[in-house]
Amino acid sequence: MSELRLDPTTREWVIMAPERLKRPQQTLKKVPTEGLPERDEACPFCPGNEDQTPEAVFVIPSSDRYSEWDVRVVPNRFAALTMDENNLPVREGPLNRGMPGLGVHEVIIDNPSHNTTIAMMSYQQVENLLAAYQQRYNTLKKEQHLKSITIFKNHGRESGTSLAHPHSQLIATPIITPYYHRRFDVAVDYYSDVGNCLYCDILNEELKNKERIVTKTEDFVVFHPYASRSSYETWIIPRAHYSSFGLFPEGQRSGLAVLLKDILLCLYRGLNDPAYNLMIDTSVTTDEENPYYHWHIRIVPRLSMIAGFEMGSGIYINTMLPEDSAKSLRDTAQSLPDSECLSLKQKDIS
Ligand SMILES: [Zn+2]
Ligand SMILES: [Zn+2]
Repeated sequence: MSELRLDPTTREWVIMAPERLKRPQQTLKKVPTEGLPERDEACPFCPGNEDQTPEAVFVIPSSDRYSEWDVRVVPNRFAALTMDENNLPVREGPLNRGMPGLGVHEVIIDNPSHNTTIAMMSYQQVENLLAAYQQRYNTLKKEQHLKSITIFKNHGRESGTSLAHPHSQLIATPIITPYYHRRFDVAVDYYSDVGNCLYCDILNEELKNKERIVTKTEDFVVFHPYASRSSYETWIIPRAHYSSFGLFPEGQRSGLAVLLKDILLCLYRGLNDPAYNLMIDTSVTTDEENPYYHWHIRIVPRLSMIAGFEMGSGIYINTMLPEDSAKSLRDTAQSLPDSECLSLKQKDIS
């Protein structure tokens, strides 16, 4: 059973989940995704091995003969948080605050193929994946005690993933996550000072400035943030102000799928299948419509390791200006065959 503990020195929560040590760990070698077999007998996420995971909570069916599903969502067998009632005490006291680790931890199996990744999937498959993300988000937000829902994806050895099969994860917590807390406080301060959504202002400023824009469409802007913490950190942000990923309109999903696939394919081609983390930043479920926060996707390639200085100081060192990485991504897109990354080939950006 897991437990949430509050660090009295930072007031940030930590999940203690010793169960997770038991999860299967593949020794991931640095091979490009395309070099893996299409199906791996030993992989619990491959079609035919469905009995090795808990029963699915959501499935997008497939008409393919080779797999009955296109996206499959299952509870994580080695969950960091679970809905099981347990007898852990609610710890009180200024130095020992804690609570039982009640929450939800799900695995979203992105695709039946073992050797694919969003960069290689069809636009329709990426759209299905986004639909699964949103379906789970909107289902779980109805649970009263769940406050933050974090959807994320770890790709490649350096990202912290333990299995090669393409998958994403969802963790819903009974506390508001520190990452969100900090950004929300900053956004509220900005709103009281200026009277606008901070993120709406950032995206308008980036469009004016142009230097850090990777591409733009009618509904989205893709850019490398001014103070990116790591090289090629990429944000996809909707132009329209929606605080929550749950409220993002279905009609814009196919356009988002095109951008997401094209950006990840461009990174795959340009940086030779880099490890990355992808996160959906969204408002908490108890405050889905507000004028301060603005949901977006963050993609952070793992090109360097977080080391002592970052851990000791909280300051990140980025060795590439976002102006240069945005240009490099636009140039990579131009150099690709006509059939690839069309949404990134606009010439009028800079
Ligand atoms: Zn597999
Ligand atoms: Zn906004």
